Amino acid sequence: LQVLSARFISSSDLTIELKTDKSDFENQPKKEDLVFGTTLSDHMLTIEWDKQNGWSPPKIIPYQDLKISPAASCLHYGLQCFEGMKAYRSLKDKDSIHLFRPDKNVERLKNSMRRLAMPGVDFDKDELIKLISELVKVDKDWIPEGEGYSLYIRPTVIATHRFLGVSPPDCLLLYVITSPVGPYYKTGFDPIRLTTDTDCVRAWPGGTGNAKCGGNYAATMKPAAEAAAKGYSQILWLFGENDEVTEVGAMNFFIYLINKETNRPELVTAPLTRGDILPGVTRSSILDLTRSWGDFDVSERYITMGEIKEASDENRLIEAFGCGTATVVSPVSCIQYKGKDISIPAVGELTQRVWDEIVGIQYRKIEAPPCTPD
Ligand code: PMP
Repeated sequence: LQVLSARFISSSDLTIELKTDKSDFENQPKKEDLVFGTTLSDHMLTIEWDKQNGWSPPKIIPYQDLKISPAASCLHYGLQCFEGMKAYRSLKDKDSIHLFRPDKNVERLKNSMRRLAMPGVDFDKDELIKLISELVKVDKDWIPEGEGYSLYIRPTVIATHRFLGVSPPDCLLLYVITSPVGPYYKTGFDPIRLTTDTDCVRAWPGGTGNAKCGGNYAATMKPAAEAAAKGYSQILWLFGENDEVTEVGAMNFFIYLINKETNRPELVTAPLTRGDILPGVTRSSILDLTRSWGDFDVSERYITMGEIKEASDENRLIEAFGCGTATVVSPVSCIQYKGKDISIPAVGELTQRVWDEIVGIQYRKIEAPPCTPD
């Protein structure tokens, strides 16, 4: 019985050890000065998994360094995955705090764990959501007030197995840390310039592009630094002989244009079927929202750079944007392709409408759909 009850993640076994020293909280930067990912709040959630006992009782403890073996397989073979989500304060009632579609993040974490053959993945996702909510409650004073402010939440799973062999791990640590963040755009949208001019690919069919594991990001550092040195803020990742558009930087990509065949406006993003696209929570919300409006065609299909170039030449390009938890939407003003810039009308009506709806739901300015639990 002991072993059985210890096997799955159980929020009822949670213990909380509160930090008594308030100095980090008192000395944190003013909310206007927050720099993404640099300020960490006071507590963390930890849950260990091992072969014999399954998941250990969850703990909320003061934020602290980890102690793991230098032989831990997360440090050698990239056996780690993570999530990025946020807790928001309602603008109508500052004491009302909520997560945005947390079930999607936890489901994606489980998919990433499965892709890395991490054991223990059959836990109940609602239990982890409850625990994340408890962590947010403990550090609720760290959530700044106001539109654009939130508590960024970083669930992470690492293989702590002390073993230099290449094999699925015998033990894991799931931990969650949080960080107060401010608005991505301080003074309105700041459109991004993209380049496709790289020999590198982000992901490929059958790879790990649809999992959120660190290795996917490590491999983008060099091409991203080269793009930045040439004055482009992100890479538009292409794949295949026909230069199909997949994602942009660490965001999903949408393009809005007049379809050549139908002569109707169409919003296009890459499909999830080939496994090379991260199933973004924002992407899914944008697809749901725009389909519910019914004002234009919405397609999940690969669009090639040739099609985009042709649409630009024929004045059929309307807007393009990246999307993700960090920025919500990032309008795109230019795509460099084969040495030439394709310019895109910067901030358009659609980008603004998507922004207004999603930010409205996140900050409870408008009613949230039923899938967003409080
Ligand atoms: N693609 C990649 C590669 C990402 O890292 C992210 C950020 N998680 C996204 C897309 C957007 O996903 P989400 O909307 O869930 O933040």
